[in-house]
Amino acid sequence: MADRIHDACRSAGRDPVEITLIAVTKFHPVELIRDLVSLGLHDMGENRHQEAREKAAELADLDITWHFVGQLQRKKAKQVREYASVIHSVDRAELVSALASDESTVGCFVQVNLTDDPERGGVRPEGVLPLAESVLEAPGLDLLGVMAVAPLDEEPARAFERLRRLSDDVRTLDPRASKISAGMTHDFPEAIAAGATHLRIGTAITGNRPTRD
Ligand SMILES: *Cc1c(COP(=O)(O)O)cnc(C)c1O
Repeated sequence: MADRIHDACRSAGRDPVEITLIAVTKFHPVELIRDLVSLGLHDMGENRHQEAREKAAELADLDITWHFVGQLQRKKAKQVREYASVIHSVDRAELVSALASDESTVGCFVQVNLTDDPERGGVRPEGVLPLAESVLEAPGLDLLGVMAVAPLDEEPARAFERLRRLSDDVRTLDPRASKISAGMTHDFPEAIAAGATHLRIGTAITGNRPTRD
């Protein structure tokens, strides 16, 4: 995986040190995560609160940064904060108020919906700046940047260009909010070319996911 990321960075004229590789371990057992840690991976992504919470508790002896990458319910927000260092799926104002805290800080990505389907996660592009502003104003939230999943019916490179422009807009609010969470198993080279800093890679690292029970 590291070689493939280096190749994509070289083609894009980027430095691999800018890239954080998150292993998305959803549906996989904790043993697999232990193996990944022993191979030197320390950033893990999960998309379901209950599963993520159980894994984080079971692996509390390991040095792992947990990234929550799934749809988040308002009433679960506070609980996700207890183990996750970064939440990639902040996509509406009610989550911002539910996540706000005077006690600790959590990293946040504003998730953008790059499709025309309102059922997909993420705020519409025109809602990105107001939502980013509310994250910047909320106590205990550190706005890292923008996140998206490429649409199924469009060239990922085109969709990620829109994400890059939205990232530029967010940076005008706060230059530190410069990160881009994009790129999965089948589209990470395009994401790197569009400036991604946080790759969320599942199957290319773990092999196929076990079917959900
Ligand atoms: C599952 C998942 C990934 C990883 O997908 P792969 O195609 O297996 O690399 C990345 N991001 C999110 C939000 C996911 O749910």
